[in-house]
Amino acid sequence: MERVWYKSYDSRVPHSADYPEQCLPLLLEATAAKFPQNVAVEFFGTTLTYRSLWEQILCLANALHAQGVKPGTKLAIMLPNCPQAVIAYYAALWLGAIVVMTNPLYVEREVEHQWKDAEVEFLVVLDHLYPKVERVLPKTAIKKVVSTSIKDYFPLILRWLYPLKARKKKLFTSVPYSENVFRFPDLISNTPPTPPPCTVNLDDIALLQYTGGSTGVAKGVILSHRNILANVVQISSWFPDLRWGGERFLAVLPFSHVFGMTVCMNLPLFTGCYCSILPRFELDELLKTLQKRKISLFPGVPTIFAAIMNHPRIQSYDLSSIRFCITGSAPMPLEVLRKFENLTGSVIIEGYGLTEASPVTHCNPIEGTRKPGSIGIPIPDTECKIMDLEYGTEEMPVLKEGELIVRGPQVMQGYWKMPEETKYALRNGWLYTGDIATMDAEGYFFIVDRKKDMIIAGGYNIYPREIDEVLYEHPKVLDAVAVGIPDPYRGETVKAFIVAKPGQNITEKEIIEFCKTRLAIYKVPKSVEFRDSLPKTIVGKVLRKDLRDESLQKSASS
Ligand code: AMP
Repeated sequence: MERVWYKSYDSRVPHSADYPEQCLPLLLEATAAKFPQNVAVEFFGTTLTYRSLWEQILCLANALHAQGVKPGTKLAIMLPNCPQAVIAYYAALWLGAIVVMTNPLYVEREVEHQWKDAEVEFLVVLDHLYPKVERVLPKTAIKKVVSTSIKDYFPLILRWLYPLKARKKKLFTSVPYSENVFRFPDLISNTPPTPPPCTVNLDDIALLQYTGGSTGVAKGVILSHRNILANVVQISSWFPDLRWGGERFLAVLPFSHVFGMTVCMNLPLFTGCYCSILPRFELDELLKTLQKRKISLFPGVPTIFAAIMNHPRIQSYDLSSIRFCITGSAPMPLEVLRKFENLTGSVIIEGYGLTEASPVTHCNPIEGTRKPGSIGIPIPDTECKIMDLEYGTEEMPVLKEGELIVRGPQVMQGYWKMPEETKYALRNGWLYTGDIATMDAEGYFFIVDRKKDMIIAGGYNIYPREIDEVLYEHPKVLDAVAVGIPDPYRGETVKAFIVAKPGQNITEKEIIEFCKTRLAIYKVPKSVEFRDSLPKTIVGKVLRKDLRDESLQKSASS
């Protein structure tokens, strides 16, 4: 295979990895046999060893099989992070079903689109979400539902998840259990752990993983068993001294997003490690968990690290158990990275990926040179090139911007029922990422911006990320984002949206003056809007498009 990334090779970083010829559920079975007594998952103090987790997976697989789940059945899982999500995911994969992870925060319209598009037939859902789902069900092909209550399994956490006032208001709607609507714990306890053997072929579809809903119609990314297996192997081989069976992971990133699924669920289970699960991001609970569970490997996103560093009593927590943090999904502000590393003595490894690549394609080396601000170098067996932005056919020279394209065993099979989009995204086996990037002489990659987010003002290409970085440097700014809005003279112009730090007053003039000293004049925001918060995705990425659309609507109606 042609090694386009040879320049980035560092002898301390693995070139390629060994991929087992078995799917993830079979590998989990082997891990459970190897470390039966190790804790696999911990959820608010309740723990499941590898043996008991595996047994519950087999029971559920058997029960689902009895209800008609077979290879190719589309099964949606709409749960926050909890042990039931792990059990349902692996049970479905064991049977060869195609898993559709549904974001529990989706509104009815989004749920309906996803389930209809994926032709979902089975659903595993949290009872609390049932009322939202019930109205959608008749419009889909879903015939059977398994409902699970966090209350049934882990009563201790009730108080934290649902404050007393909410509980008094009868938060737990009763799910109408019937011959087609089952209770998760009943299925587990009434079924023996004897499902049919796993007959999965690595090239079978494992997942339809939806992406891009915030920027248009959500697309189902087809990921095979080989894709998701490859990515955990690639990531685990990246850590030179990963303690197999010994690391303690924190899973706060949602399993319904590919980053959380791969790095917070599949990776700890593949490596036989301990995984402490949190169902949502709540800062104090997160910090308490990091301290109490002595977390050693903490995957997060930049907004989480920023929130930690802004915590008024951060010094009172002992976070010294953290060895490594993995971040990705969005650019990591350097300030935050440095402060977090100084506070904890840990190393933050910034990586990059996208749903279409299961997701990770790049990472900074752990022992080799780490370049802050860079997404690092390609992970094993991953090739990359930077292509011209217009046609994507010419390779760009070192340090010149272009579209990042990647090839490797983690790259998707295509988009579900979207042949045109697939043809555009996958050309000759290369995935066109839609991200503008550069590569330096040592083969390190730097993300410049999303192709779609680039602002063209008066003929200049402006990358809003660069402006975001400057806005974050302002001492009174908590959160900030720059977007392009229409302008009658320049085509587009820059507008900044800002959330001030608590108790701080900032003016538009102050921001503009601050930017003028740090940015070329054509990049300086022409207007500034102050907000209490910014709209974000489930993994904390600011929804630039929503802000752009809002501004468009406002200017159209004024
Ligand atoms: P998703 O498919 O939701 O995982 O989003 C993937 C997109 O997130 C990529 O195409 C990038 O635009 C962005 N992204 C991921 N990691 C990084 C990173 N480290 N720095 C900047 N952008 C990133």
